[in-house]
Amino acid sequence: MTRKLRLSDSARGKQLRKATLLKAMYLCEICGVALKRGRNHPQSAVVDHIKPHKQNLDLFWDPDNLQAMCKECHDGRKASQDALAERYEVDADGWPLKRRRGVGKS
Ligand SMILES: [Zn+2]
Repeated sequence: MTRKLRLSDSARGKQLRKATLLKAMYLCEICGVALKRGRNHPQSAVVDHIKPHKQNLDLFWDPDNLQAMCKECHDGRKASQDALAERYEVDADGWPLKRRRGVGKS
């Protein structure tokens, strides 16, 4: 039986996770937010494989293939790309017609 490899399942993985967070100075490498302890906060620390390891152990254990990010970036990378696209009205060729009001603020 094959099961999905997870860093948190082994002492070696936990060590690697810790080293990755330390290297990132406990900041999200995507949005720069300070990472928090725990799992349920939007800013909880997630250590993610940059290239999907697909059970490839070389990729799985490669420290250079790991990045620290917040839960929100991890869960919302796709969603935020969609949100970005929605901020622009585009013409038939896909070019933005004009920026909507409110972009860049908040
Ligand atoms: Zn983030």
